[in-house]
Amino acid sequence: MLRTKDILDEKDKTLRQHSQEVVFPLTKQDKKNIKMMIEYLTNSQIEEKALKYDLRPGMGMAAIQIGVPKRYITIVHESSEGVFDNYVVINPKIVSTSMEKIYVEVGEGCLSVNREVEGIVPRYARVTVEGYDEEGNKIRIRAKEELAVAFQHEIDHLNGILFFDYIDKKFPYKDQDKYRAI
Ligand code: ZN
Repeated sequence: MLRTKDILDEKDKTLRQHSQEVVFPLTKQDKKNIKMMIEYLTNSQIEEKALKYDLRPGMGMAAIQIGVPKRYITIVHESSEGVFDNYVVINPKIVSTSMEKIYVEVGEGCLSVNREVEGIVPRYARVTVEGYDEEGNKIRIRAKEELAVAFQHEIDHLNGILFFDYIDKKFPYKDQDKYRAI
C-alpha cells in the first residue's frame, strides 16, 4: 500500500525527468503500481480512510511521482457524491483542446507539492486524451472542467513539468480576467 511518504516531493530532481514511453505488455510491477496509485487516490478522497492512513487528498498521480519514469497516469474523479470514476492511461497524449481556458480558483494542488501556492495556472477547459489501457487497447477520453485540468496536470508530470512552472513569479494573478475560474 502506498503512503504519503512514498510520493516524491517537489525538491526531488527525479520529478523533472522526462518519462519513457511504455512498451506492452506491462510488467507485473507496473500493474501493481497502477493498482496502488488508484487505491491511494480513492482512499485519500474518503475522509475516514485518509485520516486512518494519514493520506493527503489528491485526484491524480503520475508514475514518476512514485519514482517510476514511465508514461502512465491515474486519476480518480468523484463525479458525484461517493461515486469515483477511475482513469488509467498509458502513453497519454492530448490530441485536441478547447479554445477556452480555465483555472482552479482555490489554486491547483499536487501530491508532490506540500505547501499552498498562489496564482493562476491556465488550462484548457476541455481536452481529448488518447492513449492505451492496461491491456494495450487504444482509448480516447473526453474531459472537461476539473477532470480536464487533472489530465493536463498529470500529463505535464510525464514531461517534468510542475503546475507552478506556469505561474508568473512577479504577478501570480496575471491575465486572470482572460480565463474562467472553476
Ligand atoms: Zn501533481
